[in-house]
Amino acid sequence: MRSFNKVLIANRGEIALRIIRACRQLGIKTVAVYASADKDSAHLRLADETICIGPAPARESYLNITAILGAADLTKVDAIHPGYGFLAENADFAQQVTDSGFHFIGPSPDTIRLMGDKVSAIAAMKAAGVPTVPGSDGLLGDDDADNLKLARDIGYPLIIKATAGGGGKGMRIVEAEAGLLNAIALTRQEADAAFGNGGVYLEKYLTRPSHIEVQVLCDHHGHCISLGERDCSLQRAQQKVIESAPAPGLTPEQRKQIGQSCIEACQAIGYRGAGTLEFLYQDGEFYFMEMNTRIQVEHTITEMVTGVDLLALQLKVAQGEPLNLNQRLIAPKGHAIECRINAEDPASFAPSPGRIDKLQVPGGLGVRWESHLSAGASVPPHYDAMVAKLITWGDDRPEAIARMHTALDELTITGIKTNVPLLKALLADPQVQRGEASIHYLEDTFFPGK
Ligand code: ADP
Repeated sequence: MRSFNKVLIANRGEIALRIIRACRQLGIKTVAVYASADKDSAHLRLADETICIGPAPARESYLNITAILGAADLTKVDAIHPGYGFLAENADFAQQVTDSGFHFIGPSPDTIRLMGDKVSAIAAMKAAGVPTVPGSDGLLGDDDADNLKLARDIGYPLIIKATAGGGGKGMRIVEAEAGLLNAIALTRQEADAAFGNGGVYLEKYLTRPSHIEVQVLCDHHGHCISLGERDCSLQRAQQKVIESAPAPGLTPEQRKQIGQSCIEACQAIGYRGAGTLEFLYQDGEFYFMEMNTRIQVEHTITEMVTGVDLLALQLKVAQGEPLNLNQRLIAPKGHAIECRINAEDPASFAPSPGRIDKLQVPGGLGVRWESHLSAGASVPPHYDAMVAKLITWGDDRPEAIARMHTALDELTITGIKTNVPLLKALLADPQVQRGEASIHYLEDTFFPGK
């Protein structure tokens, strides 16, 4: 069995801090890499070594594979943790890390590649018995008559998607047959220009689904567990805003079934490490959308209800340790919610970078704050707007929400604008409180016509 002496964190912000904390707890030394714009970030003080890998723009620093591998060489680390975003789902990066003699904390490059292509991911999951959205069996061909017939058989509305798409780009909804052929041609063209791959496929468009995802963790010895599910339906512009665990409205039977189905799929593809299978859920049915082959932003709420330290466990299985958790022992307790706090104008959503003037962080029973922010430090304009995560736990959903209201009231951040007003408005909404919002609810209710 390997044992890591030192790990390099190829990321920034709150997730870099989260990984450093987990490493310290396990007695693993850490190397934090940073772009010059992040030189004052609080997490750097907790790392054993820090190394500047370039100027502010991400492509010259956090996406700069040569600089990251150079830093790993220089500091003689055993492994690299990619966090989320940046290079976390880049199969070529994972391959180069491995080829350079370091351990990549995540699944194999082949698994990342398989799940990174939507058509191959859906095919693999379907073969493993996971429920998928009714749609074309693979990529669409060039024959118009065939495509029209296929669409008619599935039924409108439909969604055309680029197999290489991501981040909500490369998809188009088709309401009726008259628009189909044009929409296929346009999505192909756009996908070719944006991703260098014009492959498209089609799926039935679900009109009011929720987004439910299942957290899995697999060791290197064929043992996989499911840590339950999260509801991430509250989204704006394809970005999650508030997440809940467990997903409200599922029966224990449904939970068990979808969890088991995900475990079997992960075993079938030889998955290793932490991962998340994302589903749309409507009228009692799950439909697989994609698998994220990394730790996710919202892993925190799963930790709160299961009591499992996912980051520590991710590091342990990467070291080759067998999972010491049995599925029977994982029983979610209570309810947790996470609010993503973004540096942005609450009305226009324009990014709001700047220097943090005052910072007063909430606390108390069942309240968790995950952030690298500190008073006097700057939020650079170059990266994602999310600057903090506020998580609350309660015996049930109403208690978790009540604690979140109290915590948001206690929070003071000055110097930048944040989305806290939107978070408060969402949590005061009766349908949100009942956990009955579909993925369209936030935009349709709070920003109609936008
Ligand atoms: P990306 O990889 O770009 O995030 P996804 O395939 O995950 O793309 O889809 C992004 C979003 O588009 C989903 O979260 C959901 O809101 C919507 N969506 C995708 N497929 C469907 C579908 N078949 N029916 C309804 N909405 C869908």
